[in-house]
Amino acid sequence: MITTRFAPSPTGYIHVGNLRTALMNYLIARKAGGTFILRIDDTDPDRSKQEYVDAIQQDLEWLGLTWDRIEKQSDRLARYEEAAQNLRDMGRFYECFETPTELDLKRKKQLNMGKPPVYDRSALALSDADKDRLRAERGNGHWRFRLDHERIEWEDGILGHRSIDAASVSDPVLIRGDGQFLYTLASVCDDIDYGITDVVRGADHVTNTATQIQIIAALGGAVPRFAHHSLLTGPQGEALSKRLGTLALRDLREAGVEPMALLSLMARLGSSDPVELCTSLDEIADGFEIGHFGAAPTKFDVDDLYPLTARLLHDLPLAAVAEDVRAAGVPDALAQRFWDVTRENITTRRDLAAWWTLFAQGAEPEIAEEDRAFVAEAMRLLPEGPFDDETWGTWTAEVKAATGRKGRGLFMPLRKALTGQSHGPDMSALMPLLQVIRARG
Ligand code: GLU
Repeated sequence: MITTRFAPSPTGYIHVGNLRTALMNYLIARKAGGTFILRIDDTDPDRSKQEYVDAIQQDLEWLGLTWDRIEKQSDRLARYEEAAQNLRDMGRFYECFETPTELDLKRKKQLNMGKPPVYDRSALALSDADKDRLRAERGNGHWRFRLDHERIEWEDGILGHRSIDAASVSDPVLIRGDGQFLYTLASVCDDIDYGITDVVRGADHVTNTATQIQIIAALGGAVPRFAHHSLLTGPQGEALSKRLGTLALRDLREAGVEPMALLSLMARLGSSDPVELCTSLDEIADGFEIGHFGAAPTKFDVDDLYPLTARLLHDLPLAAVAEDVRAAGVPDALAQRFWDVTRENITTRRDLAAWWTLFAQGAEPEIAEEDRAFVAEAMRLLPEGPFDDETWGTWTAEVKAATGRKGRGLFMPLRKALTGQSHGPDMSALMPLLQVIRARG
């Protein structure tokens, strides 16, 4: 039974980078008929906010990424304490009292000497009396897991064989001086207890994975399969970390990006599979292979979402957009015609309102100087509304006969006079939607 999880910290809105992680874990579970867990990593009470827990759920729901279970780390502190005690009992956990400044100084000294900045384990030499004294002076210490200094190896689903020398990594801090359990301990306990079989997360977690493999083994758990996806960069390969704040899922939703456009892109970006516009998550899951993803940083261009969104909208029936059409102000009687006319001329649903405004209030006419007399003549020949499917054909034939103009020279000035634009929907189909013609003067 495959079980995966998406484990965001509720300290902000989730963005496209988080979505990649969520989606990969979701697809692995769904493809295998397994379980997908939403785990809220809220062990940090100062930074975690309910508002973000709600927002994360809304954003995932918007995309249809449904979870089978939701768990919160803040509900499980007793379990983490039990695991910590377990590690103490087996001699794998030790209390340290260095201040951040002292640790920083140690690191700088090591770097100056050309050594890797790995914690020197000096706390292991403290006697009970030393610890009592330090505790009295500085308060409770923080707790580190004592790594076994051997090579930690795993077959990464994306990076291939990985081997990390545990001696090159600092013993991880699992509990802070103020008693707060840190993510690593909580995550390991959860992954064991929930039977997580596959963990996909960003490449920034590779070192965590090495230490977590040892902690899981120490606690007697089964080590999951790990895969680390590359991090996203901007279109030019520039770091995206600073811009991720503007690539929040809710901002994309607000901008009119369609869920399936976003999902179709993110499920393939950085893999050897081409991006295909899919119509359902099942379809995306069918073609999904984690092993097809590459280790190189993945370029992401937010602008790529819009042509996909537009293509997706073109194929939708009225029923799928009826609410938006109504919200744009279109009377029900005109809804089908309005949709048929505009569907190929919008990038997002948000463009619908502008089209309706144009039809209902009339477009600001665009008339070139040399076309003024021609347009004025044409407007005299334009019948009173309401127009029908024949209006454009009969009207332009009359205008042609009266002015001698034909082809582009005939049609383009009329289109621009009626719609204010040089391109757009088929004019015969559009005419019956026009309620007001400002070019009549
Ligand atoms: N809360 C962690 C993060 O967002 C989870 C990492 C993991 O998947 O283990 O980075």
